[in-house]
Amino acid sequence: MRPLVAHIDLDALRHNYQLACQCAPQSRSLAVIKANAYGHGAVACAQALESLAPAFGVACIEEALALREGGITKPIVLLEGIFSADELPLVDRHQLWVAVHSAWQVDALLAFSPQQPIPVWLKVDSGMHRLGFDVKEAPAVWQRLVNAPQVAALHLMSHFATADASDGRYFTQQMQVLQALAKTLDAPLCLANSPATLAWPDAHGDWNRPGVMLYGSDPLEVANDTTRQLRPVMSLRSEIIALRELSEGEPVGYGGRWRAKRRSRIAVIAAGYGDGYDRHAVDGTPVLVNGQRCAIAGKVSMDMLTVDVTDIQSAAIGSEVVLWGAASNGAVLPVDEVARYCDTISYTLLTGVLPRVPRHYQAPTV
Ligand SMILES: *Cc1c(COP(=O)(O)O)cnc(C)c1O
Repeated sequence: MRPLVAHIDLDALRHNYQLACQCAPQSRSLAVIKANAYGHGAVACAQALESLAPAFGVACIEEALALREGGITKPIVLLEGIFSADELPLVDRHQLWVAVHSAWQVDALLAFSPQQPIPVWLKVDSGMHRLGFDVKEAPAVWQRLVNAPQVAALHLMSHFATADASDGRYFTQQMQVLQALAKTLDAPLCLANSPATLAWPDAHGDWNRPGVMLYGSDPLEVANDTTRQLRPVMSLRSEIIALRELSEGEPVGYGGRWRAKRRSRIAVIAAGYGDGYDRHAVDGTPVLVNGQRCAIAGKVSMDMLTVDVTDIQSAAIGSEVVLWGAASNGAVLPVDEVARYCDTISYTLLTGVLPRVPRHYQAPTV
């Protein structure tokens, strides 16, 4: 079989989730597992976390229903709420919780008669300027919902634009707007994504919403003591399938982007952009071969990529290759580092691993 596999370490997922909880001991942490748990497999990740996490967060009802079909019974929050009113009977039947960010969603909810009241997270735009009610209109919406028979617990929710940045000025501005609003309404809050969970205790509310940190990626501009304890959950591993010697000056791959500056040994790896490995990876993007660092040489192809292994004597056909994550000798290549070489973020690399790549799950040891 083709050797490319995404190994998913479910112990590491539990460890990272517990780190999020330790950062915010007064909050409940909603495990965000949208986009197929950032590419890791939503049902498997939810199963591994179900004994720890009080609730899960997803982007849409399709994702919530897949979790219910997978046997997940914990509360699931639709972070963008419904996309059309006809989802409400399913929300009710499957006991989902909904965000509301727009007037039409509130109207639809208040025109619906659920079997039991639905927990609602009222989303406010505090400065992200993407989804949510204007801060000025939020109190009126809150009053419409707070005593409505359709509505169970009501929370105030917002999202930060710059929680990952070390410059906290815009963050603090958003924070102050929200705290003032929550005080007026006497509302419980849910604000913190991963970076705010890790770096901004002031933003910890009744609930937090960590996502990417659960998968072992450090979302902060500057790492801290907690982020250094994160463990990679996905290790994208393959093998060397061919080797060749090049003379000085000879090019590798499409367009001949990389040229040998000396006599070089080039390894061909079974992994390419057709698997979700980013074609923007520049020459020099790190890769682990037998747990040792080496670098991409030449453009990434659809099914293959090429690496300079001149300095790795042990490199042979069948040698283990790690594109990101942990090698079997314990060496780690952080997905965040690979992302920088691809001019992107870990989120796109992780969610971008295509269905063609089999996921192999390492069961949690509990
Ligand atoms: C995706 C998402 C999160 C998680 O964000 P991370 O940066 O991955 O921690 C939190 N809240 C909302 C509303 C989201 O859409």
